[in-house]
Amino acid sequence: MTAVTRVAIAGGGVAGATAAILLAEQGVHVDLFESKDDISALGSGITLQGNALRVFDRLGIWEKVKESGYAFNVLGIRAPGPEAPIVAQIPDAPMGGPDYPATVGMYRPDLAKFLIERAQEVGANVHFGTTVASFTSDDEGVDVTLGDGSTARYDLLVGADGLNSGIRALMGIETKPERTGMGIWRAFVKKPADVTNTDLIYGGPVYIAGYCPTSEDMMYAYVVEDYTDRFGLSPQEGVEVMRGIAAQYGGPWKEIVQELTPENASHVNYTAFTAHLVEEPWNRGRVVIIGDAAHSCPPTVAQGAAQGAEDGLVLADVLTKHDTVSQAMWDEFHERRIPRATKIVEASVQLGKWQLEHNRDADVPGLMRSVAETVIPAP
Ligand SMILES: Cc1cc2nc3c(=O)[nH]c(=O)nc-3n(C[C@H](O)[C@H](O)[C@H](O)COP(=O)(O)OP(=O)(O)OC[C@H]3O[C@@H](n4cnc5c(N)ncnc54)[C@H](O)[C@@H]3O)c2cc1C
Repeated sequence: MTAVTRVAIAGGGVAGATAAILLAEQGVHVDLFESKDDISALGSGITLQGNALRVFDRLGIWEKVKESGYAFNVLGIRAPGPEAPIVAQIPDAPMGGPDYPATVGMYRPDLAKFLIERAQEVGANVHFGTTVASFTSDDEGVDVTLGDGSTARYDLLVGADGLNSGIRALMGIETKPERTGMGIWRAFVKKPADVTNTDLIYGGPVYIAGYCPTSEDMMYAYVVEDYTDRFGLSPQEGVEVMRGIAAQYGGPWKEIVQELTPENASHVNYTAFTAHLVEEPWNRGRVVIIGDAAHSCPPTVAQGAAQGAEDGLVLADVLTKHDTVSQAMWDEFHERRIPRATKIVEASVQLGKWQLEHNRDADVPGLMRSVAETVIPAP
């Protein structure tokens, strides 16, 4: 007997899709509402660490992720300068344990497609182009109102509706993402033949220049600068800005720069780094937030999606293990999730802060070790 038999999920990203798959597998009726008409159309790449891969295995999509993505086990550090010489090759911690590579880079739209297809395969009802507009809840259930004004009753509403979560606001939770002071340009480009793992260059004209292979042929490249309001730039102006920064780096960046052309402007985007953490419980009665709705961090340790997937997994676990939606169930959920998410948000913010402060004595290896120690045990 599960604690719920009918669940509505707002948001078809990693967090929502993970919960949908695991609940539907257990025979729960799941309606997954996703505002966008299609979530596999846009995006570039994503870095997935072992603990995310471990969840994807549980979801039944690991073989597809492995086939589509690009696995590697080292992090390269290069120096700024004309040839960007490699100064270190650091073994990446296998955060999902020995059964998975330390890291897989992959094309985001492929990941979105695998998750949604799997959710549909196990019986979740996926409604694209459908927004959860509001809800009212009582002790027994939640009445969910959709964008078209229709309503339906569920045992639980899951707000997996991302960074600017409307469900979070409707629950009366005031915590929301704050800018951390950095902004990132990302481009999806051809992979130079000699790139076989993520390489980072700290310093030079901006804080970080890096890339992550996503297949034998493609990768995403990024530069991290002081936050500047770049949102008014046209795609053509954006690509010019990124090209201007990228041209000051050497080694593989010489090939990356060739890709930063007006024709490729749609593959370039700018985002501000943000962070937030809902420290109090993530549920209000029978409504709960997970993923970026509950916590976000700059991608300095590349754990955002992994943490969202773990949220979805643990939520489904407690909902199927307990017979009723009870305080004991919520206590277990929060004990398993909040400390872990807190560690990731704090470490990610700290890494960015050290860079903003140009702190050269920072114990980065120590911090990364503590992140690995946090996420290696199963959530
Ligand atoms: C620049 C950048 C780089 C990143 N790189 C990495 C990385 O390399 N590795 C990593 O692990 N993480 C990375 N992250 C973080 C990662 O992208 C997020 O943590 C993760 O995608 C969050 O997943 P989610 O399912 O919680 O939310 P989302 O993926 O944002 O999904 C939320 C979904 O909800 C939908 N929605 C919103 N409101 C409603 C509504 N009312 N009704 C129905 N649907 C709704 C939206 O359309 C959206 O599809 C990065 C983040 C940034 C900003």
